Amino acid sequence: MELLQPSSWDEALAAKAAHPEALPLWGGTDVMVEMNFGRTRPETILDLTRIADLRDHGPHDGLLRVGAGVTYARAIAELAGVLPGLAIASRTVGSPQIRNRGTIGGNLGSSSPAGDALPPLYASGATVELASTRRTRHVAVDEFITGPKRNVLEPDELIAAFNVPPAKGGQQFSKIGTRNAMVIAVCSFALALDDEERTVGTCIGSAAPTPRRAHDAEQFIAAELDWETRAPVPKATQTRFGELVAQAAAPIDDQRGSAAYRRHALAVMARRTLTWAWACD
Ligand SMILES: Cc1cc2nc3c(=O)[nH]c(=O)nc-3n(C[C@H](O)[C@H](O)[C@H](O)COP(=O)(O)OP(=O)(O)OC[C@H]3O[C@@H](n4cnc5c(N)ncnc54)[C@H](O)[C@@H]3O)c2cc1C
Repeated sequence: MELLQPSSWDEALAAKAAHPEALPLWGGTDVMVEMNFGRTRPETILDLTRIADLRDHGPHDGLLRVGAGVTYARAIAELAGVLPGLAIASRTVGSPQIRNRGTIGGNLGSSSPAGDALPPLYASGATVELASTRRTRHVAVDEFITGPKRNVLEPDELIAAFNVPPAKGGQQFSKIGTRNAMVIAVCSFALALDDEERTVGTCIGSAAPTPRRAHDAEQFIAAELDWETRAPVPKATQTRFGELVAQAAAPIDDQRGSAAYRRHALAVMARRTLTWAWACD
């Protein structure tokens, strides 16, 4: 196996152009599992961990630009004020070791419908920044992921960062697992309020082939919320919101849970996250 270890971003892009078959690696918390189980045997690995630029995050054109090498532990410690939904989701990932090593860029790269960093990015309308020696392009996260573990990365492209508006209202994330930690989500739900635009972003995790926004539920609840007085959300409105979220899902029966349970749980998480975010906003 050949190991490429570029020390700058330009070198990394040149290496990927010269070796399009090379498998990028950051924390390795997905890649090493795949290799240990014999599900992948890459001839070439492109180790990105020496590229300091990928660890950066900061304001950029009115958005936050977060490098692909930012770990969950750093998202919790450094981004909770501006991206609270992502920080809450990051706290649910794996164990301290996985959160210290695993990155949000790696979660995007794996493109699993159960990736916990993904629903907050969908709910906030994030874009993924893809780079090659040819160009840099920005793709909406819901267009970046095209199916279970599939995305639009070209063979010569790398994920540079994601760009996302800082929170403009309450954000929440909720996840159901068969135990409290180190668990793949049975299903999950993210919600982001935008108090300026008076809109609501949502995303369902682990209950469709990709993370999925619940557009009808978003429109319904944005029109129902009393943005002026911030009156509590009536029970019937909460219930209808939950029903619309559950309807947007396309869950399957598998070893982690039944489709019916997932729909039920999504409706409950939608109601709860809505009332938490609305009350604490
Ligand atoms: C014990 C354990 C518990 C876990 N728990 C959770 C959990 O609770 N929730 C959850 O969502 N995940 C969980 N995971 C999965 C994993 O930790 C996450 O998906 C993590 O975000 C992967 O990040 P990484 O940096 O380790 O990625 P890597 O394993 O290095 O890479 C993952 C994928 O992304 C690609 N990639 C990485 N960086 C780039 C880049 N810059 N450009 C292009 N492609 C790139 C790689 O080629 C690979 O396909 C767990 C894994 C383990 C082993």
